Amino acid sequence: MRYQPVIGLEVHVQLLTDTKIFCGCSTKFGAEPNSQTCPVCLGLPGALPVLNKKVVEFAIKAGLSTNCSITPRSIFARKNYFYPDLPKGYQISQFEDPICQWGWLDIKIDGEESKRISITRIHMEEDAGKLVHGELSGQNDGSGVDLNRACTPLLEVVSEPDLRSSDEAVSYLKQLHQIVTWLGICDGNMEEGSFRCDANVSVMPVGSDTFGTRAEIKNVNSFKFVKQAIEYEIQRQIDLIEDGGTVVQETRLFDPNSGTTRSMRSKEEAHDYRYFPDPDLVPLVISEEWVERSRQELPELPEQRQQRFMAELGLPPYDAEVLTASRALADYFEAGVAAGGNAKTVGNWIMGEITRALNDSGTPIESCPVSPVQLAELLKLIDNGTISGKIAKTVFDEMWRSGKAPQSIVEEQGLVQVSDTGAIESIIDEIMAANAAQVEDYRGGKDKMFGFFVGQVMKASKGKANPSVVNELLLNKLKG
Ligand code: ADP
Ligand code: MG
Ligand code: ZN
Repeated sequence: MRYQPVIGLEVHVQLLTDTKIFCGCSTKFGAEPNSQTCPVCLGLPGALPVLNKKVVEFAIKAGLSTNCSITPRSIFARKNYFYPDLPKGYQISQFEDPICQWGWLDIKIDGEESKRISITRIHMEEDAGKLVHGELSGQNDGSGVDLNRACTPLLEVVSEPDLRSSDEAVSYLKQLHQIVTWLGICDGNMEEGSFRCDANVSVMPVGSDTFGTRAEIKNVNSFKFVKQAIEYEIQRQIDLIEDGGTVVQETRLFDPNSGTTRSMRSKEEAHDYRYFPDPDLVPLVISEEWVERSRQELPELPEQRQQRFMAELGLPPYDAEVLTASRALADYFEAGVAAGGNAKTVGNWIMGEITRALNDSGTPIESCPVSPVQLAELLKLIDNGTISGKIAKTVFDEMWRSGKAPQSIVEEQGLVQVSDTGAIESIIDEIMAANAAQVEDYRGGKDKMFGFFVGQVMKASKGKANPSVVNELLLNKLKG
């Protein structure tokens, strides 16, 4: 039998606010344990939560950017469970009437038409603290609890079970990641857990209209792991069914070392959270004006910017997509074009040399040592024939190293392109004299030898000869 996988994702997005969701404590990462706490986030009796307005603004922006409706009157609830990292004995979250509902994202997979994935809801909630074990806790063999993270604001973005493969899931996740980082509401750091996802996976026979029982894989924190975890889980469920077994609803953990998932708790052990509205927090009322104001404040989003790059700057779709991978990259590109660079050429250089250099050195585009203006200046030197495209790469490497302007590098190193026909002709004469046999071969019909001569001339001129002049002169001379 053939099986159809069905996947729905629950994504946790840690928000980039300075302070926590219900108190004024700092959210900075990496501080001394419990140094960023107060009676509210410690859960001391009588302390009252006060909602951080910034969190609401970020949630509205996330909702509008994912085509959600903003709920005019949304509610905070208590999700009750016991765990030592949760001092109140409940997490404040949203259950009924979350802030954003009924959204969607259009995902693209190479070579296929785009597909619409529905977003069920986006709700706000607080994170829990962290347990630390052994030496890290400051007591050699004990465990400790660090509540710095308690009360850190999160958005949970829940998708409908619309995804049908690990590739679709990763594509959806990447797009969501791009949007929240583009909005500047999340740093997107998956390793540190700022953007993490639970993957719900089931399989059903192809053609069936009833979903299979799902397993939920918790807290997967890289795109690669999401793909691995989903693929492993799909195969595990298929094997189980083929062997006559049945999939049970359960929570599973992904182990990156083995690439497998294992059971954490089954449905019978699942919590009954006894959700109820938190009496300490009033309903959150969001006016239409507030929503409109947020809409006005939204930046141009990746999809819109892609469209504009194609329509206004004539970029091919592929280039437009790559150059809008992040807002900083798109800004860099546009600054290069604004400084007088040809859009297609600026794009090529960013996707080629610049990306390579950034990757090799592990530098983010935000700290690229070559500014967009300098890049445009370099391209001007190619355009006006001062240097060849090949020499430009040498100049670029030097710009990267020294931060110098391209003009001064070209002058200092004597890299100006030689277009003087007399000088090039004499190089060609020497090379033809030294390679008489190859000249014979060429004249005897071995056209491929032409490249050999071009190479020799370029080498003899240390790459400075103007390639189009070289081509023209060589053609003439070799004809004999
Ligand atoms: P819970 O709150 O218990 O996690 P939800 O009904 O909110 O349950 O569903 C959570 C996620 O599971 C959603 O992303 C949803 O799309 C997904 N989901 C629901 N049913 C299935 C299924 N049969 N197969 C795969 N994913 C599913
Ligand atoms: Mg769930
Ligand atoms: Zn606090």
